[in-house]
Amino acid sequence: MSDSLPAEATGLLTVDLSALTANWKALAKRAGRAQCAAVVKADAYGVGLEQAAQALSKAGCDTFFVATFDEALRLRTILPMVTIYLLNGLSPGSAELVCGIDVRPVLGSMAEIEEWEAHADESGEEAPAAIHIDTGMNRHGISLAEAEALAPRLVSSEITFKPALVMSHLACADEPEHALNKQQIEAFSTIAKKFPGIPASLCNSAGLLAFPEAHFDLVRPGVSLYGGRALNAGENPMQPVVKLQARVVTIREAKAGTTVGYGARLKLARDSRLAILSAGYADGIFRAAGSSDNKKGAEAIVAGTRCNIAGRISMDLMAVDVTDVPAGNVKRGDLVTLLGDGITVDDLAGHARTIGYEVLTSLGRRWKRIYRE
Ligand SMILES: *Cc1c(COP(=O)(O)O)cnc(C)c1O
Repeated sequence: MSDSLPAEATGLLTVDLSALTANWKALAKRAGRAQCAAVVKADAYGVGLEQAAQALSKAGCDTFFVATFDEALRLRTILPMVTIYLLNGLSPGSAELVCGIDVRPVLGSMAEIEEWEAHADESGEEAPAAIHIDTGMNRHGISLAEAEALAPRLVSSEITFKPALVMSHLACADEPEHALNKQQIEAFSTIAKKFPGIPASLCNSAGLLAFPEAHFDLVRPGVSLYGGRALNAGENPMQPVVKLQARVVTIREAKAGTTVGYGARLKLARDSRLAILSAGYADGIFRAAGSSDNKKGAEAIVAGTRCNIAGRISMDLMAVDVTDVPAGNVKRGDLVTLLGDGITVDDLAGHARTIGYEVLTSLGRRWKRIYRE
């Protein structure tokens, strides 16, 4: 595969679209009778909105969630027939634009609902939308009291737009034992009953995996599609989707007692060989994943051997200790694996004290991207 990397390219990001669609199919199966949508916000968690959505649509997915209008527009441009929900709701004055590209806003405040209603009144359009009800996260969503007051108006068709979905979002689904899950599921079950005939949706990836009893009519997985870990404990059942390989710029010999990188925080305990890679925190390899005398950093795979990142990660360069790789096996120009072949986005995230979501959505713009069908 390194053959396909142009000589001038410094790193390779391979997105496995067949793993992506296999993940969606596996999740759709677990969803049982509920419909399985796909969350493709933030450029499909960094892997590429157009490529991911096309592949998912071909696999049978017909409902997508994005966060922003720009994302909705990009998606509508390539997929004219699918259902698109705009998670971040209706930005003031945007109703005509949103409606104009047949996108359904996820209305999360009474102000948004009133504005959408006014647009539906004026335009005479059906204007389907989702209503987001907050059940304990204190983020987007109308309150339970507001939802109680709204329900009879919808049922009596006093409201002019078409409610297509009622939804809420779990705050702690990654920790299924957390007491808030049960509270939110109960609160949502109760309120959803007051919107008869309107499909209901509560679960993200973690909710889908942990709470089969709470799938309702539609599930909204995101991170699991891209191979990330949704539940904090147990095995991650999803296939990895992303592989990252960085080019070796040079190999250098370094004496015991000398230090590596900015801040001189890692002193070499033995005479060492270092591979300097053309990748850094500007490419999404978090600075916090570096190593020091007191902290082991993230790992890389060099010619089949797991090696440690040495010292601080710079903006565009980083060092890997390849002392244990036989000298002839790694040379200038080779590709070193930073994600893939057993190193997961969550492994890298763990070394940087963050989550796989942030690794995926931080993948830099400098990688040469390859999409495998
Ligand atoms: C991002 C998001 C999802 C998807 O969450 P994952 O944890 O990535 O599966 C679902 N619903 C809402 C409201 C979201 O914001």
